[in-house]
Amino acid sequence: MKPQMLKRLPERHALPTLSIVVPFYNEREVLPACVARLEQVLDTLDLDAELVFVDDGSHDGSADLLAAMQPRRADLRLLRLSRNFGKEAAMSAGLAHARGAAVVVLDADLQDPPELIPDMLAQWRAGADVVQMQRRSRAGESWLKRASAHAFYRLLARLSPAPIPLDTGDFRLMSRRAVDALLRLPERNRYMKGLYAWVGLPTAVLQYDRAARHAGRSKWGYAALAGLALEGITSFSTAPLRLATMAGALTALAGGLYCLWIVAKALLFGDPVAGYPSLVALLALLGGMQLLGIGIVGEYVGKTYLEAKQRPLYLIQDEHLVLAATRMAEW
Ligand code: UDP
Ligand code: MG
Repeated sequence: MKPQMLKRLPERHALPTLSIVVPFYNEREVLPACVARLEQVLDTLDLDAELVFVDDGSHDGSADLLAAMQPRRADLRLLRLSRNFGKEAAMSAGLAHARGAAVVVLDADLQDPPELIPDMLAQWRAGADVVQMQRRSRAGESWLKRASAHAFYRLLARLSPAPIPLDTGDFRLMSRRAVDALLRLPERNRYMKGLYAWVGLPTAVLQYDRAARHAGRSKWGYAALAGLALEGITSFSTAPLRLATMAGALTALAGGLYCLWIVAKALLFGDPVAGYPSLVALLALLGGMQLLGIGIVGEYVGKTYLEAKQRPLYLIQDEHLVLAATRMAEW
């Protein structure tokens, strides 16, 4: 894969109006369809666009496949990360390299229909800095995934200081200033939904039906999703710490009252202190609660540790540019 070096881009094309950022990881089966669909949509739009594909350490030859493609309408830029850093980091890399006045992020697997891009652009032109895409329905996902996603989004909305619209994912359009604001947030743990919410700015919400995956398999098992959920909650809410404190206080209070009752009972009625079972039960309860509390604190301490190391979010191995066929001719 040899990068195509450019001397200078024609002035008029210096900066594209629209960047489409697509993070992907082992998506060989869907990439050709993805590029084709994006091109079809771009054909209907009269603007300069670039496709920023971020290869998140794929090892199925996705990157080579992409580099060999010749898009007609938009320049194709391919960033290869040095390994799999996860979608959140890949997206950050794509956003950092996108140069458009408006940036759309979508999944490679065509679950986020590119045909909605014109509507998103219309909202942006009407003044929205962020156009969030809200899922009206999710096709091709099991009820367990839908139910857990449902519960999680609602829990998050409750815990978050900034409102997070329900059922929105990474599929969205952002204006240049929204992207710049997002890139200025320094944290390493990039729980994007929380970061988007933090940025704020005038936001429009469009509803859409989430399609089933075009081909291939989802990269997210339930364990990974549970991890992401925990990550999300601890990234921008200290509510669990508060919860641990409150649970501790309540248990201590209940324990104290129970102690008084036992002592009083022994003094007044001379009852021998019976109750091995209750002792064991209480011990187990308190031990469990303490471990839970320590675990929650540990989550936050671990976060601080990771942040303190100040490592970069991702490492770019190389960058590859394929000029759009139409532009090659012009040039
Ligand atoms: N993805 C990525 N890095 C990863 C996992 C996933 O860039 O480590 C990409 C993936 O290729 C796809 C998008 O993130 O473009 C969404 O992933 P997937 O479809 O597997 O997730 P789901 O839609 O099931 O939530
Ligand atoms: Mg998907």
